[in-house]
Amino acid sequence: MITRRDAAQQLDIPIEMAVRHGIPARLTVDELVALEKQPPAWLVQSRANRTGKPVWVDLACVVCGYHEAARPKKWWPDYTWLSCDDHHADELPEPEPGTARSEVDGIGSRFVAIVDTRP
Ligand SMILES: [Zn+2]
Repeated sequence: MITRRDAAQQLDIPIEMAVRHGIPARLTVDELVALEKQPPAWLVQSRANRTGKPVWVDLACVVCGYHEAARPKKWWPDYTWLSCDDHHADELPEPEPGTARSEVDGIGSRFVAIVDTRP
């Protein structure tokens, strides 16, 4: 069985949409494959209306490789790296000479965005 969240990720739709259109909380892989192969009208419509912005992005830690899928948020900065919030600063790649490094907490469930900018 897979969860509705996983199914939504697979179908690249928001969870709210999956709920609204009656995707159950748990479904079988066969049911998901059937949705992919013969998408219902609302799914076709949603894909046609896609603005080009990904509904899900893969967030990956540059230090340990931990990753998770998340819905991108408008306030997220254009980051250089992501790391889990429990790594030390010296585990991160060195900033390019001449750049200033800042950090933004709270990306996804556990990530810090590392932003290197040129002044
Ligand atoms: Zn990590």
